[in-house]
Amino acid sequence: MDITKILDYQKLDTELFKLEKAIRDNNHRKTANEMLKRANDAQTRSVQLENNAKELVERINKIKEQFEVQNKMLNQVLVKDVDNMDEKEVENMLVLKDKLMHNSNILDKSLSQLAEKVKLVIDEYQKVGKIYSDARNKYSVSKASYDKELAEIEPKKKELESSLKSQEKGLEKDALEKYKKLRQDNIFPVFVPLREHSCGGCNMELPIATISKIKESGSIQCEHCHRIIYFK
Ligand SMILES: [Zn+2]
Repeated sequence: MDITKILDYQKLDTELFKLEKAIRDNNHRKTANEMLKRANDAQTRSVQLENNAKELVERINKIKEQFEVQNKMLNQVLVKDVDNMDEKEVENMLVLKDKLMHNSNILDKSLSQLAEKVKLVIDEYQKVGKIYSDARNKYSVSKASYDKELAEIEPKKKELESSLKSQEKGLEKDALEKYKKLRQDNIFPVFVPLREHSCGGCNMELPIATISKIKESGSIQCEHCHRIIYFK
């Protein structure tokens, strides 16, 4: 393996790696992503709340229907002429009246509870709406700043990529493939020197046999950090 050539290639690639890292670590980018997630979460919550509200309205309507039925029955009871009833009939009528009034009270309470729930849903819906629009605004601002910074980095990045591409022609295919694979896994630098008895990447001390192998073949992959340890 021609170590010198691949080391030159890696040196140039270090600049590209730094640019990629700067893009990944860009604060505007991070904020934009966070705000986008917040806006999406708020939207999901809004849909849930809309469904909750629909369900509550359905329940309210059902109770109102029951309420009307109860009231109708109660009115029928109340207009009955007590004077023409015997004692037993009056007693039955009073029991029925109590039952109907009791039912009406329960329905009335349920309606109040549901109305309270509706109020909570509406309050949260408004809050979530505000969170959504705030997040969207912040997203737009951060995205614009990120795009601006990216536009400044991009030409330099393209230039490096094209220089690397032309250097690749002079490299051994196997070495390059190995390099790219490790680079893709974010292992960088890929090639590290043998430092006395240790890996130049992770500082792990190497067995004598491994060191001999490196010296014999020129390079070996570190079992610990997976970098390629070279000797020259
Ligand atoms: Zn190592």
